[in-house]
Amino acid sequence: MDCLFCKIINGEIPSNKVYEDDLVYAFKDINPEAPVHVLIVPKKHYDSILAVNDEELNIIGHINKVATIIAKETGIDKSGFRIINNCGEEGGQTVNHIHYHLLGGRMLKWPPG
Ligand code: 5GP
Ligand code: ZN
Repeated sequence: MDCLFCKIINGEIPSNKVYEDDLVYAFKDINPEAPVHVLIVPKKHYDSILAVNDEELNIIGHINKVATIIAKETGIDKSGFRIINNCGEEGGQTVNHIHYHLLGGRMLKWPPG
């Protein structure tokens, strides 16, 4: 499959790895929007959250757990952080391999634009 994040996961395209286990891969966003901006992706390809069936939903909990591990490692657990999943065109999804943004290290605005 011609998928950018699948190629990053399998090493075809280089990335700055932050965390890896059997289920997920996490790497620095190429265009960071905050001092800490990490993308956490399941190694299994899903186009978006809409493609994750009920039996596989544990991956979403695992991604949130990994986000807290990375938050602690980078120190933003103390200052605060945000976990974001953009889904579909109006949600701002530009890469069709489900991914969660972990953002922190500065005051984040709310609501989003
Ligand atoms: P989305 O807009 O789909 O929620 O997020 C996609 C993210 O992937 C963007 O923040 C973008 O900067 C990041 N991105 C796109 N291409 C690459 C790449 O080749 N390497 C890395 N590390 N990040 C990328
Ligand atoms: Zn993929």
